[in-house]
Amino acid sequence: MTHLTRADAPRVAVIGAGWAGMAAAVTLIERGARVVVFEASRQLGGRARRVTLDGADLDNGQHILIGAYAEALRLMAVVGVDPRVALLRRPLELRTASGFHLKVAPLPAPLHLAVGLLAARGLGFADRLRAARFVHGLRAARFRLPRDGTVAALLASRDQGEALRRLLWEPLCVSALNTPPDRASAQVFANVLRDTLGGARAASDLLLPRTDLGALFPEPAAGFVTQRGGEVRLGTPVRTLEARAEAIRLDPDPAPFTQVIVACGPQHAAPLLRGDPRLSGIAEAIDALEHEPIYTVYLQYPEAVSLPLPMFGFTDGLLQWAFDRGALSGHHGLVAGVLSASGRHEALTRPDLAAAIHGELAAGLPNLPAPRWTRVIAERRATFSCRPGLARPAIQTPVERVLLAGDYTASDYPATLESAVRSGVAAARLALGH
Ligand SMILES: Cc1cc2nc3c(=O)[nH]c(=O)nc-3n(C[C@H](O)[C@H](O)[C@H](O)COP(=O)(O)OP(=O)(O)OC[C@H]3O[C@@H](n4cnc5c(N)ncnc54)[C@H](O)[C@@H]3O)c2cc1C
Repeated sequence: MTHLTRADAPRVAVIGAGWAGMAAAVTLIERGARVVVFEASRQLGGRARRVTLDGADLDNGQHILIGAYAEALRLMAVVGVDPRVALLRRPLELRTASGFHLKVAPLPAPLHLAVGLLAARGLGFADRLRAARFVHGLRAARFRLPRDGTVAALLASRDQGEALRRLLWEPLCVSALNTPPDRASAQVFANVLRDTLGGARAASDLLLPRTDLGALFPEPAAGFVTQRGGEVRLGTPVRTLEARAEAIRLDPDPAPFTQVIVACGPQHAAPLLRGDPRLSGIAEAIDALEHEPIYTVYLQYPEAVSLPLPMFGFTDGLLQWAFDRGALSGHHGLVAGVLSASGRHEALTRPDLAAAIHGELAAGLPNLPAPRWTRVIAERRATFSCRPGLARPAIQTPVERVLLAGDYTASDYPATLESAVRSGVAAARLALGH
């Protein structure tokens, strides 16, 4: 592995400094390429970035990682982030205000889950048995479904009743795929179950960030790249991309590039590709993707307020998960409420939504005082809508010098930090031919 780039090394452009783009840039520079990262905004991280609210470094949206995020964890370590320090690792535990409680048992896989499911509280014994049989059946089929359909149809066909759907599978589906079960891909859901519940016990661990998202990867990644001679240009949108036989030309950089990795989010990648007839089919496929929002509602309570767990669930209302930022990042009394996928909350004004979320928190947490301040962050295009049989564009394009990276590119994962990072690493390797 070389640390000094040579003047005759390939000069590769990365468009977009989200997690995919920064994963690509780190991988390229590790392998000796010359790298220039162009980022339209003044900030690194894209859809997983730091925001400063009331003087505190928080996130544009509360994120969770899981033990199965092997590439994200590997690259964090490469750029000098110790995942044991930056992330709070906890065995999978789903607990809600309504009394549902599932905790994996301290046993080797697959017993950890089977015993955890059979011991879950808030579900009748017959339901617990049905859930264990469902996972066992998926495992026996190696988590491959005969054909893709919706998660709702899969659950109905496998005898997963109303309580199981509402308390267990629907919250897991919406959190992992950011798509409601009646629209979500059953095969992608099965893939997620394979790599979490169906994998080694540590794969299902929840990893909750203790730092803001910028510090978790994109910023140390940018430091890693620039210290090795690469460039990260913030506030520099790429306006046009011209792929010639001998080189790539980008506006605003007049010097030629050997390759380009387009690592913008889908809605920004499509316009860059559309200008080239060889790439217009990919632009059309990207345009056909639909999107789902994620709302994060921050509520600052007095410092003494805390949640029963760092991640605590709510069912039957608007709120899905509440995170205790005091326990996670030392912002005592601060709760981050998460509402994934589209829903009726989108019709509310921000003050009404914040008031509704406070009401739901107060119903589940006795004696909760009024919040001192609230803030709603709506990411309207948080991820693509993970529908059955979706045609996601490949990393390689018909133009050899143009590669794609991003959470929406073809993979068996939904839109996640891990799929973004994996695509960035894969694009970088393809760009350098290894
Ligand atoms: C609120 C929220 C919560 C989420 N929660 C989770 C979670 O808990 N766990 C999880 O794994 N995932 C979660 N995700 C998904 C995860 O954040 C995304 O999958 C991931 O960040 C996508 O990264 P990316 O690099 O593919 O794209 P992006 O982050 O969109 O990065 C693209 C970058 O390209 C830049 N750009 C665009 N056009 C140009 C241009 N012309 N020139 C230069 N730069 C350009 C953009 O400014 C941006 O910085 C969540 C997402 C959101 C929004």
